[in-house]
Amino acid sequence: MSHKTPKSEKLFNEAKKYMVGGVNSPVRSFSAVEGSPVFISKAKGSKLIDADGNKYIDYIGSWGPLILGHTDKDVVKAVQKASSSGTSYGAPCKDEITLAKMVVSCLPSIDKIRMTNSGTEATMSAIRVARAYTGRDYIIKFEGCYHGHADYLLVKAGSGATTFGNPSSPGVPASFTSKTLVAKYNDTESVEKLFKKYGEKIAGVIIEPVAGNMGVVLPDKAFLRGLRAITRQYGSLLIFDEVMTGFRLGLSGAQGLFRVRPDITCLGKIIGGGLPVGAYGASSKIMSIVSPEGPMYQAGTLSGNPIAMAAGIANLKKIMKKDFYNKLAKRTDLMVGEINSLIDKYGLEANVTSIGSMFTIFFNKEKVTDYKSALKSDTEKFSRFFSILLKNGVIFPPSQFESVFISSAHTNSDIEKTLDVVEKGFKAL
Ligand SMILES: *Cc1c(COP(=O)(O)O)cnc(C)c1O
Repeated sequence: MSHKTPKSEKLFNEAKKYMVGGVNSPVRSFSAVEGSPVFISKAKGSKLIDADGNKYIDYIGSWGPLILGHTDKDVVKAVQKASSSGTSYGAPCKDEITLAKMVVSCLPSIDKIRMTNSGTEATMSAIRVARAYTGRDYIIKFEGCYHGHADYLLVKAGSGATTFGNPSSPGVPASFTSKTLVAKYNDTESVEKLFKKYGEKIAGVIIEPVAGNMGVVLPDKAFLRGLRAITRQYGSLLIFDEVMTGFRLGLSGAQGLFRVRPDITCLGKIIGGGLPVGAYGASSKIMSIVSPEGPMYQAGTLSGNPIAMAAGIANLKKIMKKDFYNKLAKRTDLMVGEINSLIDKYGLEANVTSIGSMFTIFFNKEKVTDYKSALKSDTEKFSRFFSILLKNGVIFPPSQFESVFISSAHTNSDIEKTLDVVEKGFKAL
């Protein structure tokens, strides 16, 4: 198969003149893999079509939202219908209630929600709620978990010895992250230690209950239960950042799957059906701290935007149908099973972590259980693998530390073709 991308290359060069790195979000720039990004001109179902007319089976899914694939006809119809009635009102509308009701009905931990425009705003606001509600300042986050780009959450993790978060970006004053404590994923002891020292000062613990932003990493059940117990013991709030896993792992997200009820939940991605949306929610008691019911301020000119609400409603309606998640998980399991067989066949140092319709192929000897083990992956090997897939019409997220997303638009023949290409890639490594 010939793969030529002169138009994408030209667009990328032009884009770099006017936008930093030629992109509006760094992960799109292919900086973690070789080559330069393909510019997309059209998408449909499971496919992306680039500016040169190359077609790809897409496993990025817009980084999570597109669980129905691209241009789902009901979502598109809803967007068209809503936009012809107005693009933004600056006043409440009925669809906000409809979407809020749908979310609340699926997540027993949530009585009330507040819509935002992104996941970043959701996590940022959830932290503010935890601080306002408890009257405490410290928060705990975990190495390798991403919660958007708010200052005090932009802490990767220093060396094992540092407990105080070092900002992982310039422009974030150390004083802004001095109240961010960093613990290790799947390591209950690292959390207990922090609580022993700062317990009465810790407002909340924020975590991706299933991690997706260091590649897919599964939590020990006991670890999540431990977090629930210790936060309760110290009067801190447990915040599940389900921006990725919410409505991805099932209607009740990771919290339903692992049967651990957080105090605050952050959502985004799927609840917006591909439009810019985020949300945070909790019990009525906790949410009553938020303005206008309470003193904690948080707002948004476009929050609860009518077009985004309509897209979200159309998206959720379809995934609420019986067996939707079972089918998706079965298809993913099948694919992952085949990939595992191919890993064996070619004797590769690699393994797959998967759950629901998410998975990551780690080019790693060990099973990945936390950030440290994730970082032992061979990123150079991933990069070569990624390029072979791309050249053969399959696009994976362009980084080792991301999740592949399967959508209901991926057909059996898409998956068969993908497996052929994956085998080609493995063979060449
Ligand atoms: C994507 C993501 C975010 C950030 O959401 P944006 O809409 O990109 O701001 C936060 N948390 C998690 C777990 C995510 O996957």
